[in-house]
Amino acid sequence: MLDDALLSINQVTTREQWSLRQAIEGYASQGVHGIAVWRDKMHEGGGVKEAARQLEDNAMEVSGFCIGGLMSTSHDAEFQVRLDDNRRVIEEAAAIKARAVVFVAGGLPDGSTDLDRAYGQVLKGLSILLPEAKAAGVTLALEPLHPMIAASRSVLTTLKQANDWCDQLGDGPELGIAVDVYHLWWDPELEKEIARAGKRIAAFHINDWLANTQDLRLDRGMMGDGVIDIPKIRRWVEAAGYTGHREVEIFSERNWWQKTGEEVVRVITERYQTAV
Ligand code: ZN
Repeated sequence: MLDDALLSINQVTTREQWSLRQAIEGYASQGVHGIAVWRDKMHEGGGVKEAARQLEDNAMEVSGFCIGGLMSTSHDAEFQVRLDDNRRVIEEAAAIKARAVVFVAGGLPDGSTDLDRAYGQVLKGLSILLPEAKAAGVTLALEPLHPMIAASRSVLTTLKQANDWCDQLGDGPELGIAVDVYHLWWDPELEKEIARAGKRIAAFHINDWLANTQDLRLDRGMMGDGVIDIPKIRRWVEAAGYTGHREVEIFSERNWWQKTGEEVVRVITERYQTAV
């Protein structure tokens, strides 16, 4: 039996069905007391103070806050706007006691073919933001995303690259890594890089890769419905020293977003024990 206290649901999983308040109450009513919060849903629903109150009232722990980052731009004014936005993310993450901010690097700027420059901008942004995150007691968790979305979403694509960036930026509690099985399962170096990441692992996201996937972002599967050996990766992550939440994160336009929130949570709690 896996410890139910370590199950968390990323609210994107019921994004189409439920507001933040409904998600908090809907998860808690089926015994799930972990949640990852999305900023847009939080602001739609009354903002950070209201969210903090609802989370506390339902004894929820916040495994993640989505999203920060998107710092790959080389346009000065836009870079400043992004920095300021990340400062608000850090402040809000502290206010709702999030264990980690999911930090997505950002894709290639429009018209650019210069990956190295994009890497440099993200690292520059992080070097400015990390001391501020540290002061706020917040962890920025770098999340490598699947390389098929490198152009549009994240020039950070492998766990090795995330580890290399952490080596470069310097270790501290303000910098971590989010390991998402959807993005990393295919990597022949995964076991080695998870061991190398060790205590840097600040979030662990679970879901499945469907063999007949139809969309690279919005067609994730429920654990057990796809091709990922999730228990194997979970054991690697835990052997590396990670003791935090197992966070279910499923963007699913054609399947899970079509069902009721209650049904989605019910299946998650079952699969958590049989497929994780
Ligand atoms: Zn993720």
